[in-house]
Amino acid sequence: MGFQWSLNPYMGCVHRCTFCYVRAFERRAERPSDDRYGRSIRVKTNIAEILRTELARRSWQREQIAIGAATDPYQPVEGRYRLTRACVEVLGHAANPFSIITRGPMIVRDVDVLVEAAQRADVSVTFSIPTLDPEIWRKTEPGTAPPRQRLRALRELVDAGIRVGVGMAPILPGLSDRPDLLEDVIRAAREAGATGVWANLLYLKPGTREHYLAALERDWPELLPEYERLYASTAYLPAAETQPVREQVRQLAREHGIRDRRRVKLHPPPEAEQLALAL
Ligand code: SF4
Repeated sequence: MGFQWSLNPYMGCVHRCTFCYVRAFERRAERPSDDRYGRSIRVKTNIAEILRTELARRSWQREQIAIGAATDPYQPVEGRYRLTRACVEVLGHAANPFSIITRGPMIVRDVDVLVEAAQRADVSVTFSIPTLDPEIWRKTEPGTAPPRQRLRALRELVDAGIRVGVGMAPILPGLSDRPDLLEDVIRAAREAGATGVWANLLYLKPGTREHYLAALERDWPELLPEYERLYASTAYLPAAETQPVREQVRQLAREHGIRDRRRVKLHPPPEAEQLALAL
């Protein structure tokens, strides 16, 4: 895949996941990354108009756009402002390929515009579902919809013909990396009709690190020494720690037969693909 642009209608997120990597951005921007994070959201009310203008530029090459790579585009505030929906409509009209990543089942509200867009350009959705374990979910993803609710939303979108996968991210060492918990997610993703699955392990940049480790000390103090060892000198785990987990996920996905099983597969007409290639 070529270069991807990132589109985020909201800056900040009310969900306040303990591992949220946006805390690191906020810290770099000298905004609160501690408990105050998520108490106020910045809303880009004119984002759809700006997007429309940008897509109309002669120099625009219909590059792939990723919605929600920084903050959740279907967090509760979207119910009021409908900016993500407006962006999906603009992208659909322009036949511009895009992907969405979210934890928010509210996305099913927009199935109509997603279907229209997917008939004109390549569209994909990823639901972030790192675990189904109720305790880990409640303590590390406060305020988010229960994972099984996300899976029901996934099913609805897949049934409408949209390509929807599961992103198991972040998997938390010593918590959600247990083989039985990984398998629970893969099995449920398969039952819901996920077209693919991928996994990423936790990384801890300054801003996220302090907050996550403080929450860990409160909720699972016995794990703190191991985290201090694992993340002693780096934000990212070494390959020796990440590869076995990723391989387990790949293996489980193969065993459970995760693949694109959509009965209806929406895709752009061949002319649109040719046009995109020719531009
Ligand atoms: S839902 Fe996403 S953006 Fe919002 S707090 Fe959680 S990880 Fe961060």
